Amino acid sequence: MTDVIDLRSDTVTKPTLAMRAAIAAAPVGDDQFGEDPSVNQLQQRVAALLGKEAALWLPSGTMTNQVALRSMTQPGDEVIASVDSHLVGSETGGAAANSGVQITTIGEGGVFGTDEFLDAVKPRGHIMFPPTTLVSIENTHNRAGGIVFPQAKAQRICQAARERGIGTYLDGARLWNAAIATGETPATLAAPFDLVGVALSKGLGAPAGGMLAGSRQQIERCHRYRRMFGGAMRQVGLLAAAGLHALEHHYTRLAEDHDNARHLAQWLARSPRIRIDPARVQTNILIFELADGAPCADALVAAARERGVLMFAFGPRCIRLVTHLDVSREQCERAAQVLVELVDGIGK
Ligand SMILES: *Cc1c(COP(=O)(O)O)cnc(C)c1O
Repeated sequence: MTDVIDLRSDTVTKPTLAMRAAIAAAPVGDDQFGEDPSVNQLQQRVAALLGKEAALWLPSGTMTNQVALRSMTQPGDEVIASVDSHLVGSETGGAAANSGVQITTIGEGGVFGTDEFLDAVKPRGHIMFPPTTLVSIENTHNRAGGIVFPQAKAQRICQAARERGIGTYLDGARLWNAAIATGETPATLAAPFDLVGVALSKGLGAPAGGMLAGSRQQIERCHRYRRMFGGAMRQVGLLAAAGLHALEHHYTRLAEDHDNARHLAQWLARSPRIRIDPARVQTNILIFELADGAPCADALVAAARERGVLMFAFGPRCIRLVTHLDVSREQCERAAQVLVELVDGIGK
């Protein structure tokens, strides 16, 4: 089917013809010898964009997070992260399996403050407590609906962490969206953090790839764990070229995705059986609740699929939609029409 409107995730985008041409033309070499010119160029580019000394290519956003955790903690340590963060709920227990850490989750709606953070911190050298050695912030926050973590809060938390010798990590799989939404540069948003992870395969539309950026020394440590986790590759410049192309051509257009998400929310809000506040849609993710009288999420997802609209149930009465470069404004409008018809028409 050509006319499917796929709002399940911004990971579903397919490489454009121009991106495929960039991939075909990419100079490559053995990246494990540091000899892939496309990877080297992408690493330099992303380090500069994030205002850090060095950056490292990784095959996925999940490995980006896993290598970050492993490089910044010791088994038995405690990591503090937001409730419902990707690190906790979407990496198949990797934090425990690969790094042996336990994660304490705090905050609400993807955000927490310095007081909550300090309340959760456990000191090193205590006879019972697991020492807190890392705090992770997710920006934008996926499960909270693509919200931007307020930068002033992030700065204060990272400052408090630094004073206590606690490392700071930014899970910025969608940091590009946060930058576009706030008008800040990615470097500004990354500045408070020791180590920053970003993804090329979400809204930017590359077929694969994550990057870590930090000090030269920190990235050296990540090199080792990337290899240990099986993520060191060879002529991976083919994918790096896609990442370079994505940064060049798909970055500023993220604003269109945000605009489309807001419009989608406004159209959906017309149904009394859909609960969504369009004013809370900050980037390319929107989450809505199904009110009484509406079908349950699974039933609506199945019915929408029949009509060519794909989306993802986030809970029994909760659905997530994600806009991206492969859905137009017109398609978003059509998807909203279909959903409103279904919700208002097939109640219980
Ligand atoms: C998608 C995502 C990741 C992981 O990326 P994958 O490509 O699925 O491995 C990490 N963190 C956040 C916040 C994400 O949304």
